[in-house]
Amino acid sequence: MPASPTQPWSIYLPKRLWPALAALLLAAFIFTTWCGIALAPQLHQPLGLMSQVRIVVDPGHGGVDGGCSWNGILEKDLNLALGLALAEELKQYKAQVKLTRTTDEALVPWGAGGGSRHKRDLAARLDIARRYEAQLYIALHVNSGPSHLGGSLTFYRQDNEESRKLAAAVQERLSKLVPGNQNGILPARYMVLTGLDIPSILIETGFLTNEVDRRFLTGAEAPSLLAAGIAAGVAAYLKGEVPSSPTLSSYQPPCDGDITSDLHKDIACY
Ligand SMILES: [Zn+2]
Repeated sequence: MPASPTQPWSIYLPKRLWPALAALLLAAFIFTTWCGIALAPQLHQPLGLMSQVRIVVDPGHGGVDGGCSWNGILEKDLNLALGLALAEELKQYKAQVKLTRTTDEALVPWGAGGGSRHKRDLAARLDIARRYEAQLYIALHVNSGPSHLGGSLTFYRQDNEESRKLAAAVQERLSKLVPGNQNGILPARYMVLTGLDIPSILIETGFLTNEVDRRFLTGAEAPSLLAAGIAAGVAAYLKGEVPSSPTLSSYQPPCDGDITSDLHKDIACY
């Protein structure tokens, strides 16, 4: 019997097919629920052994973007030296490691596309992590500020416990290497931290504007010492060995950490 125009369903769905449709919908519900659980980001779950973990190491800046500087010393170079050393160190623990850059290069050149080059550069770093299906993300930077500020800082993805634990485990090692007055962890909303659904940290290894830090950071042994400390912290995190009450740094970032806009151009470093 033809259905009325106000009941188009009944044209295509004879009653004898309703059980089949119900079964199909139930199967779809079970499948999508299972996928939702199975494919959920590991943001809230501790990971396992280092050998089972894919880690992206992101040496900040590069190419046209030198980061902060001091008398010809460029942050981008210090970040790269540490990144290369950290990748090797993590591989000693049998981790799978991907560097966002292995040379002095910007991930996005001048003039490529519209808008902020810096923002696109950060997005390119996130893309690398996503394509690699990274399970941990570690950005490497050097800080700058008034000369009395010194020490290492580890920023972690705000409101994320696993990121906080990772930061705490790593910072515990860094605080022993860089004897500054700002040592500690801090929550942040940096684009590279919030853009990935995995435990993510951004390390400021020290202040290039602080004499003690600068002497350490530019020393020949800094990359290997820092790499060993960071890798040991990552290994400790993966084993669940996390400081119960890590030091929260008193450092006041020059912005609220939200650099998803072009605000970053007003920030000396991050
Ligand atoms: Zn930086």
